[in-house]
Amino acid sequence: MFVRVAVPIPSTKTFTYSVPGYLETSAALGKRVLVPFGKKRLTGWIVETLSAAPEQTVREIIDLPDPEPFFNRQDLDYFEWISRYYICPLGKVLGEILPGGTDGKIEKMISRSAGNVSDIKLTEKQKALIDFLRGKGEIPVAGLPVHLREASFLRRLEQKGLILLRKQPLMRKPVFTTEIGCHKNAIQPNEAQEKAFHEIYGCLSSRLFSPCLLHGVTGSGKTEVYLRAIDATLQNGGGAIYLVPEIALTTQLLSRIRERFPERAIAVMHSGISQGARHDQWKQLCRGDIRLVVGARSALFAPVRDLRLIVVDEEHDPSYKQDDRLRYNARDLAVVRGKFEQATVILGSATPGVQTYFQAMGGRYRYLSLPCRVDEHPLPLVEVVDMRTQRDGQGRTPLLSLPLIEALRETMEHRKQALLFLNRRGFHTFLFCPDCGHVFACPSCDLALTNHAALGVLKCHHCDFTTKPPALCPACGAGHIRSQGAGTERAVEETKKLFPEARIVRMDSDTTSRKGDTERILAKLDRQEIDILIGTQMITKGHDFPEITLVGVLAADASLNIPDFRASERTFQILTQVSGRGGRGDQRGRVVVQTFNPGHYAIRRAQDHDYAGYYEDELPIRRELGYPPFSRLIGIHFSGLKQTEGKRAVTDIGKRIRKLAATVTDGKVDVIGPAESPLARLRGRYRWQMLLRGPHSGPLHLLAEKVIEERRSGLDIQVDVDPVHFM
Ligand code: ADP
Ligand code: ZN
Repeated sequence: MFVRVAVPIPSTKTFTYSVPGYLETSAALGKRVLVPFGKKRLTGWIVETLSAAPEQTVREIIDLPDPEPFFNRQDLDYFEWISRYYICPLGKVLGEILPGGTDGKIEKMISRSAGNVSDIKLTEKQKALIDFLRGKGEIPVAGLPVHLREASFLRRLEQKGLILLRKQPLMRKPVFTTEIGCHKNAIQPNEAQEKAFHEIYGCLSSRLFSPCLLHGVTGSGKTEVYLRAIDATLQNGGGAIYLVPEIALTTQLLSRIRERFPERAIAVMHSGISQGARHDQWKQLCRGDIRLVVGARSALFAPVRDLRLIVVDEEHDPSYKQDDRLRYNARDLAVVRGKFEQATVILGSATPGVQTYFQAMGGRYRYLSLPCRVDEHPLPLVEVVDMRTQRDGQGRTPLLSLPLIEALRETMEHRKQALLFLNRRGFHTFLFCPDCGHVFACPSCDLALTNHAALGVLKCHHCDFTTKPPALCPACGAGHIRSQGAGTERAVEETKKLFPEARIVRMDSDTTSRKGDTERILAKLDRQEIDILIGTQMITKGHDFPEITLVGVLAADASLNIPDFRASERTFQILTQVSGRGGRGDQRGRVVVQTFNPGHYAIRRAQDHDYAGYYEDELPIRRELGYPPFSRLIGIHFSGLKQTEGKRAVTDIGKRIRKLAATVTDGKVDVIGPAESPLARLRGRYRWQMLLRGPHSGPLHLLAEKVIEERRSGLDIQVDVDPVHFM
């Protein structure tokens, strides 16, 4: 017997091995396998079993460590598609997707047998055990009082036929720190929800690939629609995957799902889950013992059997895109998997991605809409403050404008809560010397260092390089170093000065670096132990807290000024999403947006809660510039340690690819660049990028593969299909 094995190395090849006789019965597709590889041993996966001997002599596999496979033929078809589309070797794809780890410990279980106790003479101790087990069903032996656990004692009772002992693998489960109370679960759906659900039910019943866009304003009750769809799927014996963009969102949601499906085993998958738990959940899913998975982007790969529904909540969210190792977009892959499995796919958002909305308008996705908030709660009133008109006592632009301060005052008076959003952490954005203009920058990234006053350090936000702020300018020796810009830390300080009584908490990656931090802050917010929460984009997402009546956006322009064709789309989404956090209770929410560009369409449309208007403004621009949805893109990232050599190699590759584009693809692919990346130096490496753009993905893929073939020593090349970030 022979097997074809994929190993996690940067090669598109798979390798053939022979299977020694004693392993033949357990060799099967999807099994992990230990193989000799050169002088090393590698763990790979069996992707095919062969009966005919290959031409050349092959080596023997060493071991098959697991009793069960990790995927079946259908899963593999999908993984192979991913490997081709994202131009990533199958072995690497499998290495990214499949869980590592090994089977957990064995657990001993005990229960009473049906034996009649009164017929048998028992010691006091034996009686105590029988009494203890009464009415408990099967429990782990570890759950018995210590003096009743001895193995010989239990064995004697087993021989008497009074108890049953059984061994089972101990299933490791995800652990959670705190659970935030979830609110209502017994909800009477409103008309719009009923209508959306009715259509989804039709899709589910058809058992055909049915992609849907659920476009519902913030607070319109999308979650309720998802949960009913999941309920219907599980009731009919199918499986479902529920994706949310970030771990922070899963806690509140999980309590709600647990309450909704108390009898169901639920798998939870995201980067915070231990390897053991991931391994065990994976196996239970493969066996069909678990049918519902909730998690971040990686949950999309879960081996759910008879998959009939995939929900992608906040489908516009950029965190569905992974930008290292395997560069994929879980939102797009959800649609692909739906097609493979003939499943219903619900993409839900208040601010759908322009590409998603384009698909829906073209009739390729079913369009479902929840146009109003539940219980007729109005959307918040958005006020835009032109920061060009705001000056403080010294003639500088203040961090908090007068209208925002006034709104905060009112909110505090009414004992309500406020969110202040600023997409930069730290104290001041950077330090500089006003005498010579020297900016304190990271030695390996060439980016300004951020001042973290609480820690007394300057920090690089890309590589975490940390240093103490010097007293004198290292360039000219002058002694009055100044700071400019503002981060969350300074926002907290300024707000404290204005509202000394308020309980103010900061939420950004500095205050949520330990496990459970995010949940703790959100739980405090939920218990109303926080008056003002100040934070980065993590506060803009999905949370539902009815006492928040004011949302302040301190610098709406931060996201407009990034070099990316989606900058305005991101800005519109962030503003709409963060506004949507307010006014979910009985009082109408209020939003104050501070900007230097009050006339920009992304800001005006967000102010009016006008998604369709935004889309109409944006689409002609995309068409004009030839960006998605009017084209497809593949990004190529080059990096190297040496600037001159790197630049020469990259320029040379660029020339060759341009020539190929003209001949091989008939000029159907534009080659943009190569040029220095916006982050031209990162973690000590010099960086360049190139963009391939064209109407069809075939020629683009062909060229991208040619670029990879140009690989030369000292130059790293990464291909990014359907790129989201351009830094
Ligand atoms: P979305 O995800 O669309 O922003 P949610 O699903 O979080 O909105 O719903 C917002 C709030 O409205 C939640 O507290 C939810 O429990 C509640 N809700 C949802 N549907 C209804 C309904 N039909 N009637 C009353 N409350 C509802
Ligand atoms: Zn750095």
